[in-house]
Amino acid sequence: MREISFFDTTLRDGQQAPGSAFSLEKRIEVAKQLCRLNVDTIEAGFPVASKVDFDLINALTKELHDVSICAFSRANRKDIEAAASALNGYKKGRIQIVTPVSDLHLRTRLGKSRSQGLNLIKESLSIAKDLVPEVSWIGEDASRSNQHYLIDAFNTAAEYGANTLTYADTVGYSLPGEMYESIRKIINSFEFESVIGVHCHNDLGLAVANTVSAIEAGATEVQCTINGIGERAGNAPLEEVAMILQVRKDKMNVFSNIDSRLLTHTCDLVSEFTNSPIAKNKPIVGGNAFAHCSGMHQHGVLKCSENYEIMRPADIGAKDRSIVIGKYSGKHGVRHVLEESGVAVTDDKLDCLMGEIKLLRDNQYIDSEEVLSMLRKYE
Ligand code: MN
Repeated sequence: MREISFFDTTLRDGQQAPGSAFSLEKRIEVAKQLCRLNVDTIEAGFPVASKVDFDLINALTKELHDVSICAFSRANRKDIEAAASALNGYKKGRIQIVTPVSDLHLRTRLGKSRSQGLNLIKESLSIAKDLVPEVSWIGEDASRSNQHYLIDAFNTAAEYGANTLTYADTVGYSLPGEMYESIRKIINSFEFESVIGVHCHNDLGLAVANTVSAIEAGATEVQCTINGIGERAGNAPLEEVAMILQVRKDKMNVFSNIDSRLLTHTCDLVSEFTNSPIAKNKPIVGGNAFAHCSGMHQHGVLKCSENYEIMRPADIGAKDRSIVIGKYSGKHGVRHVLEESGVAVTDDKLDCLMGEIKLLRDNQYIDSEEVLSMLRKYE
């Protein structure tokens, strides 16, 4: 089985999303929680761009020990030196240098040709590799670049000392099949022993699918954020990618170090700090992820949870499943809710109750207390 490393960028890309930034103290708390979750690398900010990012990275180098801490940087000396200075000699310090690889970004943002783009990679990596133990390179807008040039850029970055080379689908443009093909081509062209990473955005809702495709194609490091927070529509949510690897390890044949039992708490913490409630239908950690309302599903899940659940609530550290009573619920669910409250019910009374439950309004759901008080009327 191949090991997949998790590179969390909640504290860098995640903080760049409008309305998502939070204080230094809270960022330190999130970083500590990410350590408990067992992520392999924490990208904690962009030191040259913001003092709080610089201070956070500096603080984390004193508070953390075993996790790799990464600072983001553009390909210039000032950025790289600020990143190295924030990392302050930390033994697992890492700088991630970004350079664009699409003609569009090279031309319109930097006014550079492809060969000048390669020089930028060479010069920046040469500066950084003398300053920190690990240097990564990330090819921005890789999904809209010329594929021959992209391969040249990856090979140049590897030759100039990048330990990890990351394919960024910066604008969430890639299709999963294209991602697979592109990563395969890069790996097949490769003469180096570098790690291939992937960084996906969710503009078309494909960040997770593209991340999974990249892993299937041979990428071994995934960049994610908690709750998928990040620029625009966000990044690949760590909790979703981690659970795909766990639930479908039969097919994917990979593993990670993530302690999935801490996912619920981690997602709740980031949701609170970003003041963004988690949508009820969000995969893995949404409020309805283990809620069953229809009679057919309630019956099935109570007979055997695997009928309608592909993971257990305990796997992600969630409270137990909930059997929600509404007009679509059936006898098995209602009887279960009453039994959970220690009340046995006769078939006759259950029939009466069901008659009333079928009259609930479309959007009306009742808890066990309300079911019990309904039952009292028939005693
Ligand atoms: Mn990004």
